[in-house]
Amino acid sequence: MFFPFQAVAEFFKEPSGPKCPECYSVFIDGACPNLDCPVKVAEWITRWCSPEAAKIPALGQAEAGQLAKLRLVLHPGELYELGQGDWDRLEGVSVDQLADIQGQMGGSKLAEPSAVLYGLKLPGVDERLAKRLIEAFSSIDGLRVSKPERLQQIEGIDEQQCVEIHRWFRDSVNKKALTMLEQNGFNLGEQ
Ligand SMILES: [Zn+2]
Repeated sequence: MFFPFQAVAEFFKEPSGPKCPECYSVFIDGACPNLDCPVKVAEWITRWCSPEAAKIPALGQAEAGQLAKLRLVLHPGELYELGQGDWDRLEGVSVDQLADIQGQMGGSKLAEPSAVLYGLKLPGVDERLAKRLIEAFSSIDGLRVSKPERLQQIEGIDEQQCVEIHRWFRDSVNKKALTMLEQNGFNLGEQ
């Protein structure tokens, strides 16, 4: 009987090259391609909590890393739906710190639209660009439904970035993040 051992071995062979230390995906162009990678999720949560974004300084990198690693969150919206049992799974978080985190999370719902937009971590959108985008489109919803021609007129936006921003709003995880933020008291429309 012919047994194509070589083909089978080839099929099961692990792709080679450096791997992400967290999710073991093989790097593409020096970065982990896995969108659900806990490293990326932790970076997103850290950005969200930064003073320039939703201002939740009590939730630092260590806690963001644990939330991502335990798969308790995939996006910032899920932070607002964590129950006591979820928070209890984090190590090294005192009762006082948790109270601070939750208090600051409550306050974050009043963050400026440009700060929220910066926290959403759209491709290439730094603080200054987030401010310009909100000035031009009034709100995150306004940006979401913006016409490509209008978006390209914004200083610092080229055609490629225009495509990436609109693609960001079509991504299912990002859509869920926005919906969940709204359900938890964020106003993403006109203020
Ligand atoms: Zn990874």
